[in-house]
Amino acid sequence: MSRSQEVLDEEFIRLSSKTLGISESRLSGMLKRRVVQKVSGFFPDHYRFDKGIAGLETGTTLFKTDTGIETVRGFPKIQRAMMLKPSIAAHFEGVPAVVVEEKMNGYNVRITSIQGKVVALTRGGLICPYTSEKVSEDVGEHFFNDHPDLVLCGEMVGPDNPYVPKDIYPEVNSISFFIFDVRHKNSGEPLTMREKHELCEGYTIKTVPYFGEYSLDEAADSITGIIRELGHRGREGVVIKDPEMKLPAIKYTCSQSTNSDLRYAFGFYNDYGRDFFFSRVVREGFQSVEWNEDEDTLRDRYCRLGESILKPMVSTIRKRERGERITENVQIRVRNLETAQKFEEHLRRMGIDAQFDEPQLVDGQYLIVIRKFNQSTNDRTSATLNGQLW
Ligand code: ATP
Ligand code: MG
Repeated sequence: MSRSQEVLDEEFIRLSSKTLGISESRLSGMLKRRVVQKVSGFFPDHYRFDKGIAGLETGTTLFKTDTGIETVRGFPKIQRAMMLKPSIAAHFEGVPAVVVEEKMNGYNVRITSIQGKVVALTRGGLICPYTSEKVSEDVGEHFFNDHPDLVLCGEMVGPDNPYVPKDIYPEVNSISFFIFDVRHKNSGEPLTMREKHELCEGYTIKTVPYFGEYSLDEAADSITGIIRELGHRGREGVVIKDPEMKLPAIKYTCSQSTNSDLRYAFGFYNDYGRDFFFSRVVREGFQSVEWNEDEDTLRDRYCRLGESILKPMVSTIRKRERGERITENVQIRVRNLETAQKFEEHLRRMGIDAQFDEPQLVDGQYLIVIRKFNQSTNDRTSATLNGQLW
């Protein structure tokens, strides 16, 4: 480690210790174990929590500013209901009503302003150059001039999405930002539902679709209806929240979305964690039981599930057998080629092996196809085809 880096770390440790109330020796240990990591190459200097620790969420980011340390807390994990009715009753006990929002399927972004500069952080606390260019189209700088102490948390969705590309939102042509929470810097405290909506309306900032407020007694039945309808439209599901935002939110998703995830991921079966597949299969089991499905409906469900697992896998194996390389293709659309270059560096930094095609000029913007190499699925499939034992 260079001398200047050490000095920087020392100063960071001293300042953060005061702000976070964590001892200097403990913080220094976290840096050594790389639980906290310096993110180089960005102004202002910042550090990110690679893991949740000491009451701080994964992705918590600390910026060293002229006046001290500013903290953007990681977005909290949202637990999943497997059985809607008992989960709502147990989790929201004592709350008169819950609100239901659409769960949009893209990637999580936190936007804030640090020393007057708007930054877009991805889940893990990295500043994504592509996201930063895109959100500036959805959130004007004047919002942060008025509210420098707030963090907008939302989902980036649409087809021009390098992380989670989905063409299931007819309202989005390219990629767009939908807010779901507004939180305070440092504490991470959320605004209430009402405060959030009033604020976003005032600045014409888009929020995720809102389905309304339901008393605890009627919530599960109403949400089941919403889920069936969202499922038919190919959308992901819902997030159920306390209107006062005192209790943590919970999520519940549609079978169609579970199957669509599986269809996608089994094409790259060795690059996804096993838990990704397992948890989705289990969801299907509980939903079928909660919905009290008859034989025919259950048969549809297990045929659909089997198809979602096997079809993409067989297709991948055949492709490999023909000598084709397995790639996951995504695309970005940028006004400025420099953003694409920076994004290429960003992917490299994240350890993603990808190739960028030549940019195509479409309506004044550059469309670039990115081929991500799924090395693990490639290698494992070839080896298995050649007789390697599992
Ligand atoms: P987790 O966020 O629970 O750690 P995960 O990364 O697998 O798990 P998801 O299963 O996609 O995430 O569910 C949580 C995510 O859903 C949030 O982090 C957020 O990005 C996204 N999301 C979409 N719509 C909403 C919404 N209306 N309210 C809250 N989060 C939402
Ligand atoms: Mg998601």
